[in-house]
Amino acid sequence: MTVVVALDVGGTGIKAALVRPPGEIVRLERHATGARRGPEAVIETILAVAGGLADTARAAGETPLAVGLAVPGVVDEANGTAVWSANLGFRDVPLRELAAQRLNLPAALGHDVRAGGAAEARLGAARGVRHVLFVAVGTGIAAAHVVDGRAGGGAHGAAGELGHVVVRPGGTPCFCGNRGCLETVASAAAIARAYPTVTGDPITAADVAARAAEGDEAAVRVWRDATAALADGLLTAQALYDVADMVIGGGLAEAGEALFAPLRAALRERITFHREPRLLPAALGDRAGCLGAALLALDLLG
Ligand SMILES: [Zn+2]
Repeated sequence: MTVVVALDVGGTGIKAALVRPPGEIVRLERHATGARRGPEAVIETILAVAGGLADTARAAGETPLAVGLAVPGVVDEANGTAVWSANLGFRDVPLRELAAQRLNLPAALGHDVRAGGAAEARLGAARGVRHVLFVAVGTGIAAAHVVDGRAGGGAHGAAGELGHVVVRPGGTPCFCGNRGCLETVASAAAIARAYPTVTGDPITAADVAARAAEGDEAAVRVWRDATAALADGLLTAQALYDVADMVIGGGLAEAGEALFAPLRAALRERITFHREPRLLPAALGDRAGCLGAALLALDLLG
């Protein structure tokens, strides 16, 4: 049997898998990224984990045919370069070439959210839908515009920064240098920050959603502001892309209908000429990036 090696490299953890076509995970491993050790050590860990999985496959009588890597930040898919990543300390790392040499296999490099979006459009919530926007709402907010199963990266590998669309001009300062960016209001981190706690105990966005459902006034206000801002962001995206489905993933989507019901209502209120997209929860969970990396590898094989 044939498999591909797929890695989704995050700021804290690496999900690594052997994937059988067209998208079945037959082995999944989790490793620590160890980003504090510096970029050189992270690169070595990525190559060692990928090489180890290829060896594991061979030992089990499987034939690894290609390797796919997904990383965060600015990623130049055409050149196979991890251009920039704040989490990993990457600057112009030729990761595709390094992986191809180490594993002696064809290699592909992609962006984690774009890879996840392609996986949701080909294997997940929007399976078979031609025009899809995937929006990952977690610590930050990022999106992937997927057409016919492929996510566009832009001219510089930096497309899809929906989190930095300004939805509240003059609002809260964002780390990017602007004010009122979508992710200053609607990311899971921003929602948790906006909820005033008397005790100082840490609280998550899911806690805020649960308290809002119970009628806690402060939670209701924070949740309403977040869903309104997210609807503003999605309306802008729909004006640009006119997609059929919007798939919402990341930690915030785990709130389920507590998110989707008010978000659908808020989007519907704002729609004028736009066609209303279906708003769907992501189906692949935290495996989306890894499956997307596998699809990049499988696409090399034609
Ligand atoms: Zn910003």
